[in-house]
Parts: sequence; C-alpha cells; structure tokens
Amino acid sequence: MNNRNWLEYLVKEIHTCVVATVDDDGLPVTAAIDMMDCDENSLYFLTAKGKGFFDRLKKQGYIALTGIKGESTMTSVAVSVRGKVREIGYDLIPKLFDKNPYMKEIYPTEESRKALTAFQIYEGRGEWFDLSKKPIERASFTFGEAERKEEGYFITDACIGCETCGSVCPQSCIDFSNIPAVIGQDHCLRCGNCAEVCPVGAVERR
Ligand code: SF4
Ligand code: SF4
Repeated sequence: MNNRNWLEYLVKEIHTCVVATVDDDGLPVTAAIDMMDCDENSLYFLTAKGKGFFDRLKKQGYIALTGIKGESTMTSVAVSVRGKVREIGYDLIPKLFDKNPYMKEIYPTEESRKALTAFQIYEGRGEWFDLSKKPIERASFTFGEAERKEEGYFITDACIGCETCGSVCPQSCIDFSNIPAVIGQDHCLRCGNCAEVCPVGAVERR
C-alpha cells in the first residue's frame, strides 16, 4: 500500500477518528472528528471556529489521531497519524460538503456553514495495525515532508543465536535462520520481551 492507500482507508473505511490536541496547561484533549478527504500527502477535516478544538489547532499546529475499524478487538484494523496541521479556510468547505453530504443535515444552510473552516494535516507519520491477522500485521508510513525514521526493536551483531528471545516472543516473529537473528518488523508487537531476556544485550530499541 502507498501513502494514498493508508490515508484513503482513514477517510473512506474508518472516517470518524479520535483526535488529540493539547490544552493551555499541556494536558491532552480528545474529540471525535471525521476525516473528510485526502490526497497523496494530506488529510482534510473541518471544524467550527467557535470551538476550543479550533483554538488548540491554531495554537499548536499539531494533531494526533487514531481510527479503528472492526467489530471486536480481534477483527480490528487501527490507523494512527500524528503530524502538522494548518488552516485552509472556508474555500474548501463546499467541496468537503459535496464529498460528505451528511454534513448538510448538521449545517443545513449556507449561512450556518459560515462558522466552519477546513484544516489540512500536511506532513506526518502513520501506523497501520491489523489485529485480525495471525501473526499481527503492522506497517509505518510518512507523508508530506516528514522524515522517515526506523522505529521498533532490532537485533545487532552482538547476537549469539541462543534463541532465548524466541521463547518469549508472543508473535513468533524472530527468524533464527541466520546470526544475528532478525525480527520480522511487519509482525512485531514491540512488546520488548526480546530485549528483556537477551543475555548479551543484542536487542536494541530505536
Ligand atoms: S518486541 Fe515482542 S513481538 Fe517484537 S520481536 Fe520482540 S518479543 Fe517479539
Ligand atoms: S536472545 Fe539475544 S543473543 Fe539470543 S538469539 Fe535472541 S537476540 Fe540473539
């Protein structure tokens, strides 16, 4: 999947996400916000200018969100994104309403829509996490100008191939066919068990 696929999944399959911003005391505040459109490198949503959410977005220019699709934990896919956000303004509102016609029930008149403004998440990082697969599947992605970073647990050349880590790995996602052993990043829970038990400290967290 490419960037657009991950972002489109958020817009079309999940749609309503829990988003987090930070208040003036540095404390987290969450809200349920619909992701209304996307392109290759952006997500778009709207809010009303009278809301505290609007003020927090303008002050911090940063947002984190998670959306989940599934009927139960073990059938769910979760997508999380964190990144920079900026106000686009009213110009995008008619297009967002055309793509999301249910909004016309909430803001029925042109006049009432004047309270709204659109925002763009234009740069950030994302995580895909699919608990419906065995072993679990995960992937990371970046969009906009965000720098790609390697994250997770990795086995270094210090590995002696003792396979102790394999006995505590809940996803059996460590390959011992070579030394150093290799963690299958697409299936790793990042629980840290392997790092805890490794007798030579060969597992490092990045
Ligand atoms: S972090 Fe957890 S899931 Fe990932 S390889 Fe280590 S033990 Fe396995
Ligand atoms: S426990 Fe450490 S040394 Fe043993 S196989 Fe795993 S990473 Fe290598």
